[in-house]
Amino acid sequence: MSLHFVNHYAEHFADIITEQPVSINGPSQVRLFNSELWQQLGGSGGAQQLCEQIDARETPAGWRPLAQKYAGHQFGQFNPYLGDGRGLLLGEVKTPAGDYRDLHLKGAGPTPYGRGGDGRAVLRSSVREYLASESMAALGVPTTRALVLVSSAGQVQREQPEPGAMLLRTAATHVRFGHFEHCYYRHLKDTQRALWHYVIERQWPDLAGADEKKQFRGVMERTALMIALWQAYGFIHGVMNTDNMSLVGETFDYGPYAILDTYQPEKIFNHTDQTGRYGFLQQPGIGLWNLQRLQTALSLSMDVSQFTAVLDDYEPYIQRVYLAQMQQRLGLSAVESGDSQRLIGEWLQLLQQHQLDYNQSFIHLERHLNEGEDNALVQAAGNWLQDYKKATHNKPDLATMQQVNPVVTLRTHHLQRVINAAESGDDEPLQDYLQVLTSPFKRQWLDSEWAAPPRPEQQVSQLSCSS
Ligand code: AMP
Ligand code: MG
Repeated sequence: MSLHFVNHYAEHFADIITEQPVSINGPSQVRLFNSELWQQLGGSGGAQQLCEQIDARETPAGWRPLAQKYAGHQFGQFNPYLGDGRGLLLGEVKTPAGDYRDLHLKGAGPTPYGRGGDGRAVLRSSVREYLASESMAALGVPTTRALVLVSSAGQVQREQPEPGAMLLRTAATHVRFGHFEHCYYRHLKDTQRALWHYVIERQWPDLAGADEKKQFRGVMERTALMIALWQAYGFIHGVMNTDNMSLVGETFDYGPYAILDTYQPEKIFNHTDQTGRYGFLQQPGIGLWNLQRLQTALSLSMDVSQFTAVLDDYEPYIQRVYLAQMQQRLGLSAVESGDSQRLIGEWLQLLQQHQLDYNQSFIHLERHLNEGEDNALVQAAGNWLQDYKKATHNKPDLATMQQVNPVVTLRTHHLQRVINAAESGDDEPLQDYLQVLTSPFKRQWLDSEWAAPPRPEQQVSQLSCSS
């Protein structure tokens, strides 16, 4: 292992944790191991040794497993009874580069905060989280990362019995908006203040000496950046409860997420989300609503009156980041911003009206511009394309387009296929898909089966929240 652990959380936040060892669900088998990330953490050896230690019920040196207590607003309602119900923070690692990373094991057994849940995770949802985090990281979207996926010999009961698994992930921090809400509702003023400064000092040392308004601006900007990139790549988180919002703006707790295939921005994938609260177009507004809950919570230990001015800047900020990313995706870097904005808006209308595939349309545009390819986009685009060529003077920024437009994205029907294979013991599709998802900009994948959008009969309309 040889990781350098600095377990500050276990030492300083005793009133909001429960220490407890990992409880396995039968012997484990390593299915995926992220050796690049492991090296960045300063690890040596492989995942096998780690697995053997867990199976032997040993606590490897440096680990200090604990469940974190937090609360949160779920679908708009405050729920004080949340916390790590099946995940344990194993410890905090100081990397050779000097960064701090949490190691967290999901599916590690029941905890006092699980409200009677079994404390387990299934292979299906663990594969989904692994691929999603690595795919988002490769796109440049801030996210937690996946380090090891093991399947467990024991089955787990969901709608039906399913193979069990555990996912070892890393995050800059596992401190969520919901941690501060827990402190607020329990009047834990000193803990709240200490927690805030702990995260800021570790993650943003540059802001450590700044006033709290500036620090809160840091949180606002990271949240906005993350969501702006979700919007630009068509990612739908699905459960933007405040307990799933990382304080440092990493995409977190992947559940019933999806990436748009055809551009249907109003479609709701999470079948438990009956009002459409967490639909694609709702995400920027929900980000702000969640930040307002954080502001209220922080009023326990800080003067938050000045934070309102910070939140007033949220919408222009997210809009700016989103438009800049879309400008890059459409090769509009030399086009004046008014024209750019108009072209972006009309682009989205075009995709919606003709029910075109969201991410593939950018590739279709590029291929048309590059080699005159005739494709679904070109056939639908008519006036827009003429307008576009005029605005770019026939010189779109193709180099940037190739850097930011993925050839391969996470698609539910492909995920379904690799999960089915993995559940029957065949990991080849899983490893294959992972490989292309982690190098998504390579044009060599253009003709790969993984680049293909779903045929009509392969489209998945709803996703189960059970995980
Ligand atoms: P999530 O929807 O995955 O963000 O989970 C919401 C809350 O339920 C968190 O506090 C989780 O730890 C908890 N939870 C989810 N699944 C389980 C489970 N199988 N056993 C215990 N707690 C769970
Ligand atoms: Mg969660």
